[in-house]
Amino acid sequence: MYLPPAHGQNGITALTGGKVYTSTGWQEAVVFNDETILAVGSTAAVMADYQGQATVIDLGGRVVLPGLHDMHVHPMMAGLAMRECAFPQGSSPEKILAQVAECVSETPPGEWITGGQWAGNSFGDTQPTKAMLDRVAPNNPVMLTDISGHSSWANTRALAIGGITRDTSDPDGGLIERDTFGEPTGLLRESAMAILQQHIPQPSLQKRAEALESALDDLMRQGVTSIVDALVDPDTLEAYAYLVARNRLRMKVRGCLVYGEAWGNTDWFNRELARRADYTSEYFSLDCVKVFMDGVPTESHTAAMLEPYRGVDPENESPARAFGLLLVKADELASLVTRLDADGITVKFHAAGDRAARAALDAIEAARGVNGLPGQRHDVGHLTFIAPADIQRAKTLGATLEYSPYLWFPTVINDDIAAAIGPERLTRVWPVREGIESGALVVVGSDWPAGTPSNNPWVGIETLVTRRQPGAGEGDSSFGPAQSITLEQALAIYTGNGAAQLSRGHQYGGIQPGMMPYVIVVSDFLSTSINEIHTTQVDTVYVQGRRVEMGSD
Ligand SMILES: [Zn+2]
Repeated sequence: MYLPPAHGQNGITALTGGKVYTSTGWQEAVVFNDETILAVGSTAAVMADYQGQATVIDLGGRVVLPGLHDMHVHPMMAGLAMRECAFPQGSSPEKILAQVAECVSETPPGEWITGGQWAGNSFGDTQPTKAMLDRVAPNNPVMLTDISGHSSWANTRALAIGGITRDTSDPDGGLIERDTFGEPTGLLRESAMAILQQHIPQPSLQKRAEALESALDDLMRQGVTSIVDALVDPDTLEAYAYLVARNRLRMKVRGCLVYGEAWGNTDWFNRELARRADYTSEYFSLDCVKVFMDGVPTESHTAAMLEPYRGVDPENESPARAFGLLLVKADELASLVTRLDADGITVKFHAAGDRAARAALDAIEAARGVNGLPGQRHDVGHLTFIAPADIQRAKTLGATLEYSPYLWFPTVINDDIAAAIGPERLTRVWPVREGIESGALVVVGSDWPAGTPSNNPWVGIETLVTRRQPGAGEGDSSFGPAQSITLEQALAIYTGNGAAQLSRGHQYGGIQPGMMPYVIVVSDFLSTSINEIHTTQVDTVYVQGRRVEMGSD
């Protein structure tokens, strides 16, 4: 992706004859240079002031919005996944094994095969096993990630390389699934995945930077000009530094350094946190820390829930199987969040279950108790489930509610969630509407590629409103329809709210004179029906007032 030098007469661009989203309602025209937005108003008024000074582009009725925000995304993981052994989400076991067999035929014996993403419920009443993979991949270590990114399926060769045997105990915050004889089945949950990951050779820095760049380009082509990278580990940080040093980062990125032994290590975390200013540039800021509170509310039962999983009797099951896993201890978390809050760092919590959300808010409350209000805008993320009382607490504590991924409609993974959680709690799944009504700041993220095939914000905008599959109409099945919101609310979430969470609402949260020109031109989705919004075309993206040349790679 390439930004040509400021163009046009005096470097001024006037977009006229369209529908421009501003804080004072829809206007026809906007004028900007490469520093600031100069004017918004009617085409006639703008032309009277800027005719002869600006390059004028007739919008022909198209829509202009501020650049969109994806507040939870994993571009490094996505870029690398594009280059792996991939099969469609929800593939049958036969289809997955056929794909693995094909990957085996292209890979020298002994070399790792990694890929995804399988869904637990594609396997019916059984679970994936190492033996299934051994049949098609006897000579290559294989590790396949599930659609949530919280479970891996490995073969015998891979387990052997990782030294995982019946005598290996479960790591902290993780689970090695075993059969009735105590033998590892090949399924690894949460931090247990890291036992194998450390043996998988990493692509070179240049390859990783290219993967990261291609994922960021993919987001930008869809109108996203600002993201929060929700998992900056050592490899990812290095790739960002590589792109920044070469002037190849062209969107606003807030990086969240990942906390926890499973991801980096404490020395690395403390060192990079202390020197975070070294990484700061026009487009990159390292002012966020990611903390994993729990896993996912699927058949893996790793999201931490206040009430037991469906059909589980807590009397007869382990607490982890009944209520899920809380990955961080309360006192450790309270002191961490208090320290980061005082240092001006935002904490982004992975909290899919309602017990995890409560524990995250407890830690924010502890920080407020020491540091006072307002403090940083910490965001409690995913929120597949959160209790009504905790939504109110978020408002009181100045915490942000982040709903992700863009899966607010019937999907394979949501069938899995429905089966694990049961119908009653599903009426409040991803309670976006309750979040808005509470008055707390609400933002959303794609979580691409974890758990979702889509990073498309237009799918997100449509399905926040419809709660149905993209393109589906009245009468088609829905997911949590009581939590649907209006189109106006969805647009606010993707624009002003995202910028507000980054404390940049005054800079690029909207389109008004004096703000920074992060602007996108898209097809006129206002004149289509709501279930066509996912087809919105992004024609032009302006970053800092300059048009981004978008290649097709
Ligand atoms: Zn994530």
